Amino acid sequence: MKAVPHNLPSLGNDEAEAASKVIRSGWVAQGPEVRSFEEEFASYLGLGAENVVAVSSGSAALFLALKVLGAEGKKVATPVYACAALRNAIALAGGQAQYLDNSPESPLMNLSDPKIKDAKILIAAHMFGIPLDISSIKDKIIIEDVAQALGASLHEKKLGTLGHCGIFSFYATKLITSGGQGGMFVSLDASLAAGVRDYREFDARRDTKIRFNFQMTDLQAAIGRVQLKNLPAFLRRREEIYLAYVESGLPVLRPPLASQAIPVRYRSVLKCTQPKKLQKSLEAQGIKTIVPIEDWELQDTPVDDYPMALDLCRSTLSLPCYPFLSKEDQQRLIEIAKESEL
Ligand SMILES: *Cc1c(COP(=O)(O)O)cnc(C)c1O
Repeated sequence: MKAVPHNLPSLGNDEAEAASKVIRSGWVAQGPEVRSFEEEFASYLGLGAENVVAVSSGSAALFLALKVLGAEGKKVATPVYACAALRNAIALAGGQAQYLDNSPESPLMNLSDPKIKDAKILIAAHMFGIPLDISSIKDKIIIEDVAQALGASLHEKKLGTLGHCGIFSFYATKLITSGGQGGMFVSLDASLAAGVRDYREFDARRDTKIRFNFQMTDLQAAIGRVQLKNLPAFLRRREEIYLAYVESGLPVLRPPLASQAIPVRYRSVLKCTQPKKLQKSLEAQGIKTIVPIEDWELQDTPVDDYPMALDLCRSTLSLPCYPFLSKEDQQRLIEIAKESEL
């Protein structure tokens, strides 16, 4: 029985070669590779190098975004259906989280929730690779959380370039990885990017302003550069996998898309009544799945205050969806799932 993990980074010989070149060069800390990664990432988004800052993680990018936007003492609207990175970054930056429930049958936060009213800042999370339409929000500072949606777009603009700034994660299982950890801050406002860059350059400064070591290494950036080149192929393969799940007739979660939204398939998620039962049947055949966000992972309590998010926690299962997943393994999974009571 072949083991099929829920997720797997798409790393190969080219990344190994790029990493070993950096190792042999004698310079592994933040340097020319990080600079090139920033330039190439900026160009992928249609931005200039002055708009982009590489950092050590998506969490670091989010913390820095909140910091340069002056979140201290302010209300920050944020999805309850998200990982702890958001809550942690808000707390560390001295902000006050205002949690929002999801839209029905969707992993996306509901921006028409009246609780958004008092928030000065909004963390707009494009969950599962699905663009969250922020065009109706005019009176808030918007941080786009694009950790799960690199390459997706809305109104012909790449996500991350629609709000005041955007943050990306290159953790091992995100759409691309810079060797396990890494992140990027982007902003059309070059002065915000300059603020983040200044915070990151903590060493040997002539003033006593507080800064911190959130640097990416050249070893990470070299891997990230190869991955970025492969991103279009990764996204095409993910789309194929997603479509095969949809075409199999399994109950794939398909929230309505905003007009002119082009998603990426970070996740393929089933919406069913007995996700844990299906999870067990698949596990028995060596196939790993996860509940994308469990009810105990919701970012605020009581969870009953968030009925839409809670419903999703209790009725979803995320299936393997990554470039290295073979057609045969996916087919095997589909057949087992079709036999199960969903
Ligand atoms: C992964 C993730 C983050 C945090 O990124 P790290 O690089 O793991 O710190 C933030 N927001 C979302 C939506 C994520 O999926």
